[in-house]
Parts: sequence; structure tokens; C-alpha cells
Amino acid sequence: MLKSYRFTCQACEVRLMIKDQPYAEGAHIRAVGYPHNGPDVAENMLCLCPNCHAQFDAGAITVDDDLNLSRNGEPAGKLHVVKECHPSFEQLAYHRATS
Ligand SMILES: [Zn+2]
Repeated sequence: MLKSYRFTCQACEVRLMIKDQPYAEGAHIRAVGYPHNGPDVAENMLCLCPNCHAQFDAGAITVDDDLNLSRNGEPAGKLHVVKECHPSFEQLAYHRATS
């Protein structure tokens, strides 16, 4: 799914280059481990830069049902999405409820 987003962060649109390779992280929306037990599927993942991944995992970034981003409680634009790799609204709601 990182290729679907060309390794560009869905939250801040940074495309981090490390030497000549783009780098992004696949962030589970609902964590796969106990106690969340999220599914390990593309719909439960976001393509994020390391900074946004850390904020997302800590609940400092959340995404609403209109794909509006909140970062540290402030509006922060929209989540970038492509049709062929759209995140699950159910898992985004779960992330909000547990953040
Ligand atoms: Zn980012």
C-alpha cells in the first residue's frame, strides 16, 4: 500500500528521501496486537512519514468521517486518499474512540 501512495505521507504530504529511496511507514490504524486485535489488511493501514506515524500512534493525530485531520487538537487539513487504497472508516472511528 505504500506504493499506492508513492511513499508520500497521507497526513503531511512529505515524501521523505533517504539517499535515493523514498521512505514511508505503514501505520496500522487499529493496532494488530492485544488488546486492539486489528486486522493486518491494507484497509487498516495508513502511509505515514515517521513523525506523523509517532503522532498517530499516540492519538495526537486523528481522522474524522470527512477525512479531516486533527493534530494536537487543531485542524490540520485533510487526509490524502486514493480510491484503490482507501482506509476503513470503521477503523478510523475505532482509533478516535481509543485515542
Ligand atoms: Zn507526515
